Amino acid sequence: LVSKLPDIGTSIFSLMTQLAQECGAINLAQGFPDYDPPVALQQALARHATTPGHHQYAPMPGLLRLREAIAHKTARVYGVSAPDPATEVTITCGATEALYAVLAAVVHPGDEVLVLEPAYDLYGPAIRLQGGVPIYVPLEAPDFRPDWDRVRAALTPRTRLIMLNSPHNPSGAVLSAQDLHLLADLLRDTDTFVLSDEVYEHMVFDEQPHQSVLLHPELRERAFVLSSFGKTYHATGWKMGYCIAPAALTAEVRRVHQFLTFAVSTPTQHALADALETDTTHDQSLPDFYQYKRDLFRSLLAGSRFELLPVPGGYFQLARYRQISAEGDVAFAQRLTREAGVAVVPVSAFYHDGHDDGLIRFCFAKQDSTLHAAAQRLVGL
Ligand code: PMP
Ligand code: GLN
Repeated sequence: LVSKLPDIGTSIFSLMTQLAQECGAINLAQGFPDYDPPVALQQALARHATTPGHHQYAPMPGLLRLREAIAHKTARVYGVSAPDPATEVTITCGATEALYAVLAAVVHPGDEVLVLEPAYDLYGPAIRLQGGVPIYVPLEAPDFRPDWDRVRAALTPRTRLIMLNSPHNPSGAVLSAQDLHLLADLLRDTDTFVLSDEVYEHMVFDEQPHQSVLLHPELRERAFVLSSFGKTYHATGWKMGYCIAPAALTAEVRRVHQFLTFAVSTPTQHALADALETDTTHDQSLPDFYQYKRDLFRSLLAGSRFELLPVPGGYFQLARYRQISAEGDVAFAQRLTREAGVAVVPVSAFYHDGHDDGLIRFCFAKQDSTLHAAAQRLVGL
């Protein structure tokens, strides 16, 4: 077999989690909470999993009641017109499937797709599997803010799509209203679509609002906006997400989705619909919940030799380790896991060419006791 992705190995998240397990290390590598979803949501899932008639295929675009709940929530959170549940909301198997379905729907062979780098590791390979050409535009440490002049310089008549991710994985950078405004100016006379990966939408700190692309009417017309129940409900293992896009774009996403997964878990969709219908405070509590964890983790590492980068959003902390070691980031991450007992992700994994700035990523979506235990192992280094 001639590989379609010959240069791609096992995902760094699997590798570091496996190494953490082998070494009995505290896993601050792969992004997942070590606490469970809200009890009411777990109970709802148990209820629907034992309800007769909730075990067969859901409708292809998702349960209507869940799509309606998402539409209401979107209008409530962003103060924008609700997307039409019938034609503008699609439930997917995590944001992962939504990303893949959008790329498969939009990217023709030879199309260029702009990726701001560092980027979530799926983006480049998924673009290439469609025959697309990822064009990487660098984001510079320590702020990782987009340089729109560089984006402008990278735009060509073949640019089919630009991928945004705010809050950003791995850096935590967030887009501002001004960023969206500048992007809208750049795209105005183009046929370029926007894929906005907003899975960390409820983790924006320091009293800042999340600037969803849905807030910008001009961008919204050409955008696929993705979210993940895995992030919002501490349930990454449920693999539930969704895509909001104008009807014509949604129709294309659904053409792919119907042959990719067709539909996703029925009882789980019912449980999430219950949660959205009955509790409108959960998402509002998340910024404070995660800001507290960010601040706790940063204060615990304050006396260490790690240099902590700013974290305006998301649930990851980037750190420079140059005062501790001159090693490359992969070697350092592995040694930290083996010798210090704390697993992290080397940030070079988020670059197509392994670019190494001497940075590692910690996930702070962990119980306070886990953060304390990890910090104890890190401060003396
Ligand atoms: N996009 C980003 C930026 C992510 O960090 C993740 C989760 N690691 C995903 C997409 C995938 O989300 P899900 O787990 O819902 O498939
Ligand atoms: N998004 C998670 C992270 O960045 C990992 C998801 C995965 O393991 N594929 O760590």
